[in-house]
Amino acid sequence: MNTTQQILTRLRHGGRAELSELVALLKAQGEDCNLIYEAADRMRQEQMGPEVFLRGIIEFSNICKNRCLYCGISIKNKDVKRYRMSDDEIINTAHNATKWGCGTVVLQSGEDPNFSTDQMCTLLRRIKAETGLAVTLSIGIQPRFDLVKLQEAGCDRYLLRFETSHSESFAKIHPDESFERRGQCLQDLRELGFQVGSGFMIGLPGATLEMIAQDILYTTQLKLDMIGCGPFLSHPGTELADEPLLDDISVYYKTIALVRLLNPRAHIPATTAFDALEADGRNNILTRGANIFMPNLTPGKYRVFYQLYPNKPCVDEDGAACAMCVRGRLASLNRPLGSGPGHSILNKAKGKSRLAGSCPSVKGLT
Ligand code: SF4
Repeated sequence: MNTTQQILTRLRHGGRAELSELVALLKAQGEDCNLIYEAADRMRQEQMGPEVFLRGIIEFSNICKNRCLYCGISIKNKDVKRYRMSDDEIINTAHNATKWGCGTVVLQSGEDPNFSTDQMCTLLRRIKAETGLAVTLSIGIQPRFDLVKLQEAGCDRYLLRFETSHSESFAKIHPDESFERRGQCLQDLRELGFQVGSGFMIGLPGATLEMIAQDILYTTQLKLDMIGCGPFLSHPGTELADEPLLDDISVYYKTIALVRLLNPRAHIPATTAFDALEADGRNNILTRGANIFMPNLTPGKYRVFYQLYPNKPCVDEDGAACAMCVRGRLASLNRPLGSGPGHSILNKAKGKSRLAGSCPSVKGLT
């Protein structure tokens, strides 16, 4: 048994990995690389089953007050036409989600200061009452008292990526935010009993394999219900326009596989950015640890204006086409569609106790 096999065997039996071992796995090539993918796929099958759950994304506003350096819809990008969907448009799209096989809708936006918490609560109540769907919010950092209101209105899950666990890198690319505030918001979400999703961008400018391995370990320490990671793809309308991809494309895939091996019971989506990285990128990820697919349900007329990164797939399609496409993909992979909301299996008894630990300090990782 070679070194890669030895580490993978330990991970498959619930063991941990040292930073240096993760770096070695991220460097793996050829047959060793395939061994990592196979181990992650087997772990996904054993722990999460064959089903793929659909979480339909509704990008309801591309208005954002922030200037994240990598983001195509940051307030600094004056070339983007801004939109905010009406409440009725959002509700209608949620109704469509039920027809298209989604058990969850993900309401996603920039940090839009004019979309009030009370308005969001009204929307949540209508979606829950009219569709019964699970709802995930991805609307940026919120104060704890607003999170309480959102939860009371029916929000099941919250997605807030930390993007990088390296405080210096975080500060460089997020001029309007602090890592500590994001960590506090994640901590509030945990204590309030939300199902919590987070994750990071793979291959940010200056990232070394050691830094990516640290991000994997940090993610694991958070004990997340859902882990969403995607490649950094430079957007031409941003200051990071000229930053290249990693030399070794397989690092993006190995990262997801390692996240699965270290987080056997977390939901892991095949994030859309993988299709922008490579044709069939999301299919590849579904065979390397992922068990969630997030079709874009945003009405076609808005999609082109919500491009956090370039070459975003499916911007000229509508929700029905995306739903059909997903079914074709899953059939080609011989994976059944999951039914129901696909809630966290880390936390069947929703409540404060499940994630009672505090967020690990980033200091130890920088
Ligand atoms: S990443 Fe999010 S918070 Fe940052 S500028 Fe883009 S939409 Fe706004």
